[in-house]
Amino acid sequence: MRQHHNWQGQGLDLPVGKAVCVGRNYLDHIRELSNEVPEEALLFIKPASSLCDMHKPFAIPVNLGACHNELEVAVLIEKPLRRAKPEAVEAAVWGYGLALDLTLRDVQSGLKAKGHPWERAKAFDGSCPVSGFVPKADIDNPQQLAFNLHVNGDLRQQGNTAMMMRSIEELLAEISRSFTLQPGDIVLTGTPKGVGPLTPGDTLTASLAEQYSLTTKVKADD
Ligand code: ZN
Repeated sequence: MRQHHNWQGQGLDLPVGKAVCVGRNYLDHIRELSNEVPEEALLFIKPASSLCDMHKPFAIPVNLGACHNELEVAVLIEKPLRRAKPEAVEAAVWGYGLALDLTLRDVQSGLKAKGHPWERAKAFDGSCPVSGFVPKADIDNPQQLAFNLHVNGDLRQQGNTAMMMRSIEELLAEISRSFTLQPGDIVLTGTPKGVGPLTPGDTLTASLAEQYSLTTKVKADD
């Protein structure tokens, strides 16, 4: 049986699909990792098998170096998008939520140094905990959404979609030129600064504007 998006007991009739992710979409995060500003969107994919429910304690790999938090606004797709114009994108969106783009940073650094793909660092099982989704009708302006992550009570990440280098509409249009977005797919729109290592036992609270907040725990994948 295929898994459906039901992270908040919403029982959406949308199958859990792939996550298309954008790297380096917030200047403050590019600077914290001393990366270059990309000329075109830096895209990668996490498979459906990487998605899990952020409300439940989620597991991080152990013995593979640091596993970093990257809290990102996630866009849930309701209708197919292929080679879409930016103005056609919003009609295909179901709503907005949060996702963690968990990243094995040491593994990623090793792969980058060799010029290899990132999947082992970013697309492993459970690497994409996902929150529930707020229907788009309840969001005034998706390009004015504050979001933040607390780890053990301390503020670690604080972002606002107004700070994106490429807007959600531009991103989805650009993505849809290479990858058809299908109902149940999600798009991760990039992380602001504040990435850092997670440890089993950590308590995380993730919030999206005034609309949504959840608290969860990190455990070891053993
Ligand atoms: Zn990311």
